[in-house]
This record gives sequence, C-alpha cells and structure tokens, in this order.
Amino acid sequence: LNHSASPDMILEVTKYGNPVLRQKGTPVDKITGEIKQLIADMFETMYATKGIGLAAQQVGRALQLTVLDLRGVTDRPSTLELAGQPADVEQFMPLVLINPQLKPLNEPVAGPEGCLSLPEIYGDVVRPESVEVKALDAKGKPIEFRCGGLLARAVQHEIDHLNGILFIDRMDRKSKNEIREELDLLQAETKATLASAAKK
Ligand code: ZN
Repeated sequence: LNHSASPDMILEVTKYGNPVLRQKGTPVDKITGEIKQLIADMFETMYATKGIGLAAQQVGRALQLTVLDLRGVTDRPSTLELAGQPADVEQFMPLVLINPQLKPLNEPVAGPEGCLSLPEIYGDVVRPESVEVKALDAKGKPIEFRCGGLLARAVQHEIDHLNGILFIDRMDRKSKNEIREELDLLQAETKATLASAAKK
C-alpha cells in the first residue's frame, strides 16, 4: 500500500461571479508534490466536465497554471509547430502550461467560444489565429511552440483566465448585450451560493 499517493479528485469548477476568476495568477516557482497533485486533479476535473482546457482559477486557485487536451476534437482543426517543424497535435497532448507567455503571430479572427465557468453561454471572440507560446511543462522544463486554429484559441482563452480575463470580456458590445440577462442571473446565483456556504 502506498499511503502517500492520494487518488485524483474531481474538483468543483468555479462559476462566473466567483471573485477568484478575476484574480491574476501567482507564478509557480517550484513543482512541488502539491502542484503535481493539483495538475492531476485539474485533468480529472476537465475530463469529467468534458472540457478541452481548464485554468487554476477555475478550481479556485489563482496560479499561472493551466491544462489542455484537444484529443478527440475533430470538427475544428489545430496546427502545431515545434522548433520550426510541423508536429502532431494529438501527440503533444495532454498539455500542461506553467507561467506561460504569449506572442501573437498574425491577424485576429472571430471564432465561437464557451467556458466551463459560464455554462451554456457561448459567443464569438476575436483573437490572433496563431500564437507563439513559451512556458514550463509539468516537470518544470521550458517548452516553446507555435500553434494555430483551435489550439491557439484554447491556449489564449486559458492564458486569459490566468490573468483574470474571461472570454465575455472580449466579446463585442452587441453580442454581450444579448447574453446580459444570463450573465446577471449566473452571477447572482454564484454569489448566493458563496454567501450560503460562508454561513455554514
Ligand atoms: Zn474558460
């Protein structure tokens, strides 16, 4: 028996209205056992909720840490370049990004987005079609890649989370007005849930 290894857990996903979603993440300076467990739990949570990306803020932790896995997405293409060479997206998954830095490579394009923290709310967001990413992987090793398509969109959406930014912040005014009522309802519901949890 190994008593030190805890089983991976499905964590609660924080919803719009929870202040942690607006917090800028603290850089991760050491891959401790606790961080390793958090990464494992974040994957477990992302798979359980059928997401393709999950940021630390979405499990209540304001850290520069996000996980992604685009395997199984067939309707929206992605591209990947490693050291200037085209590479296989599926082979590159699952992906852990710690303290990531982004550089846009070309013009912004509009595309649909959704978020596990804003269930059933969708909208078009304009973002660069491809980006360069520098980060640390799950072992703390520096990685660098260029990506396009859905992977670029997902990476930018997740890195926004690490800076307290949500995809609705990047929607145009007209689209945001169309979902205003749903947003207000969700925010009120989240605040009520947090208030009643605090009383217990
Ligand atoms: Zn999100």
